[in-house]
Amino acid sequence: MNVERIRKDFPILQNRWMAYLDNAATSQKPRLVIDAINHFYQYQNFNVHRSVYTPAQQTTDAYENVRQKVADFIHADRAQDIIFTRGTTESLNMVASDFAMQHVHHGDEIVVSITEHHSNLLPWMRVAKANGAKLKYIPILDDGCLDLDAAKKLITSKTKIVALTAVSNVLGTINPIEIIGKLAHQNGAMYVVDAAQAAPSIPLDVQKFHPDFMAFSGHKMLGPTGIGVLYGTQHALKQMQLPELGGEMIEDVSTTDFSTKPIPWCFEAGTPNIAGVIGLGAAIDYLNQIGMDQIEKYCRNLAQYLADQLRKDKHVIVYGPKRRQSGIVSFNIRGLHAHDAATFLDLQHIYVRAGHHCAEPLVHCLGTEATLRASLYFYNNRNECDRLISSVKKMEMFFC
Ligand code: PLP
Repeated sequence: MNVERIRKDFPILQNRWMAYLDNAATSQKPRLVIDAINHFYQYQNFNVHRSVYTPAQQTTDAYENVRQKVADFIHADRAQDIIFTRGTTESLNMVASDFAMQHVHHGDEIVVSITEHHSNLLPWMRVAKANGAKLKYIPILDDGCLDLDAAKKLITSKTKIVALTAVSNVLGTINPIEIIGKLAHQNGAMYVVDAAQAAPSIPLDVQKFHPDFMAFSGHKMLGPTGIGVLYGTQHALKQMQLPELGGEMIEDVSTTDFSTKPIPWCFEAGTPNIAGVIGLGAAIDYLNQIGMDQIEKYCRNLAQYLADQLRKDKHVIVYGPKRRQSGIVSFNIRGLHAHDAATFLDLQHIYVRAGHHCAEPLVHCLGTEATLRASLYFYNNRNECDRLISSVKKMEMFFC
């Protein structure tokens, strides 16, 4: 992978001062994506699914082509398994509110892991509270990996939903989504996968781990903000109530009743984020050009380099397994609050995230209130990692 050539595709990375190491928060956008959105507004800005005139039909085709592109990207059976949403958070809330609220009852159990982002935790907490169900957590082992033995005991015939993140946004661990999927289905539970960090960083194949629902966001995988995906099998989607009613999701309306379009269009009421969908399509084209296998390998190796260097420093605590699994490295400098450290790094134009990363239970489980998180993507390089490492050393000389 020629990273220096790749970097030229990203206008924002032409700022050589900046070391952008906060890709788990959002990714930067290549020119291809920015141009696709510009092109849409300049030449293609017609509403979809309604008008008969030719340019509007062409925009509808472009929009629907992206649905197929997303389906291919995750190896879904058909384009109709893809619903466009605002992002992972909306997708997961839809599943919780419009599926689980109806199907989870008093005494049932919902199993999540302690590694969940709040977006894959709070919606389940709400369902459990509202319906008298129990929320159970799969713990992690000392190295940050999911405790599979515990998972086997926690997932039982009482379990109605298993909701799991594929990649932890704090530890960068890749959870065993195939094994947990099997456990869920053997016990008759529905399986929901939060792929917010996985979609940008590892090849995703729903034929391998068979989620009933899966959610991810465009903005973390080179696409624009405000667009995301809810994947669902037809069997699962048929059991979901419609989150919104209104324009474009209906077949016929009388003064007393209405009938709806088939799945997935019945789940997309109102004018959708057409520019977002077009941008997401361009983002997938770019990712496919590079190859998800290559991206996964490159990010993992770069994170290994960073983590190894940080671990050599006795003032630094690196969280998660010794062998890195993705591009995310969380750490702390002993005696220094993560926010102070991030502020110091900001002064050197090194951008990392500090805090609980919207995964408070996990960060508490690591025995801290906050961590620093460097999250690398395929356009990051060793030079940026070295800048971070030497700034950490500077900080220690200064503060510790
Ligand atoms: N799940 C995980 C694992 C995440 O890392 C994030 C965002 O950081 C989300 C869910 C929520 O994604 P969004 O804010 O795009 O809805």
